Amino acid sequence: MTGPKSYQKVNDEVLASLSEIAGAKNVLCGDERANYARDETTELEPALPEVVVRPEDTASVARIMKLASDKHIPVTPRGGGTGISGGAVPIYGGIVLSLERMNRIVEIDRDNFVATVEAGVILTDLYQAVEEAGLYYPLYPGETSSSIGGNVATNAGGMRAVKYGVTRHFVLGLEAVLPNGDIITTGGKFVKCSTGYELTQLITGSEGTLAVITKVLLRLIPPPGKREVLFIPFNSLEDAIGAVPDILKGDNLPVGLEFMEQDIIKMVEEYTGQEVPLHEHQAFLMIIVEAASDDEIQRIAGRLGEVCLDHGAVDVFLPGSERAKRRLLELREKFYSTVCHFGTPAIVDAVVPRSRIAEFIAKVKEIAQRYQVPLVSYGHAGDGNVHLHPMSDGTKKSVAKIEKMLVEIFQVGVACGGTISGEHGLGLVKKEYLPIAADKSKLALMRRIKLAFDPNNIMNPGKVIDMD
Ligand SMILES: Cc1cc2nc3c(=O)[nH]c(=O)nc-3n(C[C@H](O)[C@H](O)[C@H](O)COP(=O)(O)OP(=O)(O)OC[C@H]3O[C@@H](n4cnc5c(N)ncnc54)[C@H](O)[C@@H]3O)c2cc1C
Repeated sequence: MTGPKSYQKVNDEVLASLSEIAGAKNVLCGDERANYARDETTELEPALPEVVVRPEDTASVARIMKLASDKHIPVTPRGGGTGISGGAVPIYGGIVLSLERMNRIVEIDRDNFVATVEAGVILTDLYQAVEEAGLYYPLYPGETSSSIGGNVATNAGGMRAVKYGVTRHFVLGLEAVLPNGDIITTGGKFVKCSTGYELTQLITGSEGTLAVITKVLLRLIPPPGKREVLFIPFNSLEDAIGAVPDILKGDNLPVGLEFMEQDIIKMVEEYTGQEVPLHEHQAFLMIIVEAASDDEIQRIAGRLGEVCLDHGAVDVFLPGSERAKRRLLELREKFYSTVCHFGTPAIVDAVVPRSRIAEFIAKVKEIAQRYQVPLVSYGHAGDGNVHLHPMSDGTKKSVAKIEKMLVEIFQVGVACGGTISGEHGLGLVKKEYLPIAADKSKLALMRRIKLAFDPNNIMNPGKVIDMD
């Protein structure tokens, strides 16, 4: 029996075993569980776990998984709880396994440019430790309180993917605990590896459905030197997106290339009380570049400015001071909190080849107009990852309308050569759309992979793919 109906409840005997493994104060059965009942997905109802357990080491995680497996209790791994697909929401109750106490930076290896960290380390702490070691971890998924385990489990992306790629491009190896309690290690402090199936990459992006990630080996690089931010207004989104292919043709790939429309700019101004430069224009590109020296930065910024002006840019704004650059980037980072402040946004995180972003957005706008649903759009123009927020008024009718509309949006995205999630994962809220992006053979193979790892379906069940 593998289905949710056969799951057992967490009883006193299980609680006693968990207390023995993790210490009684790290086994939460009271009101504190409410903090683990949701993530940052606004449209989801919280789901209370029967118990939260916070182990301090891999051996304890292994014992917890063995216990859950023997007792047939579902387990939801949890990092920072900043996910926006409902992946960490324990929909069948059971055990939430929080990695928050496994937050040690084990080693920053300067010779091999590798950080070894426990899965519960949060990004802020990783950045600091790596910087102190004179090295650089370039990935920047917007929320720095997210954990490395969560980043790996969702294959997080963020604003610097144009140049550096996504989390999986920096994961060299893992330590993980399988649902039966076995501990495995994959990869190592090396880039080359042709030794059997690539389990590091299979577990990366599996959203807690295959194994609990306990340790991660991350590739580091030398620090980039100087950074510049260009903020460029256009008269239309079409003009702005039209500039993207030429921006990317230069000899220095931007680190980030973001697009945004006037509505999100106005919203973020109202939400933060801060004014955005040149806010009267219709659409904007934000380009982030890095180079070794000031001269080089100036040369690159000059070229990018000219390319944009050739494509109809109205102006090219350079913030000047480091503080002003930081402020502009921070305003961009607040977009998601901003839309949440103004309503209940659904989140479209579709990705299409970047040459087809304009076409995709135009089609989505037509769909939204037909459904009469307000739509806020911005995203990572340089890597084709579009964030669209159809805004619900919270009523059941409006939520149902948006769900129907999302089917059409994802179909259009897939028809444009894209797929339905670029960086947030499918979790709970996008799993039902997976058949739009994956045919029957692929779905069947995914189910067989899930069963090979987790024959009793206790590992974050109900996420990514339904098993029946
Ligand atoms: C304001 C805001 C901005 C954001 N911007 C971005 C962005 O630019 N790019 C981006 O990619 N994401 C972004 N996110 C989403 C989120 O930060 C990422 O998905 C992040 O990787 C989640 O990490 P977490 O530790 O919070 O994971 P959680 O939310 O705790 O969990 C996410 C998923 O990973 C699983 N998981 C967590 N830890 C483990 C583990 N150790 N082993 C196995 N499975 C595990 C969970 O079961 C769940 O399925 C943003 C979120 C917010 C709130």
